[in-house]
Amino acid sequence: MGIMCKLRGHKPDRGGARHDGEDYWTICKRCGTPLIRAIDGWREPSVDEKRAHARQAEARGKGDAAA
Ligand SMILES: [Zn+2]
Repeated sequence: MGIMCKLRGHKPDRGGARHDGEDYWTICKRCGTPLIRAIDGWREPSVDEKRAHARQAEARGKGDAAA
């Protein structure tokens, strides 16, 4: 995490946000940390959320390949 992110929090790339079927995801513009949309803003995902997101991406990839 960069020093600016430590001081001010991450800077989500809202324009690049994508819905994975469960939540909106994006990355921090400064440091590239994955971020998940919460009710009151963006936060870093938990390990479980990262795992679920990876599964969603994998499922989507297979769907695209089959289509
Ligand atoms: Zn950051």
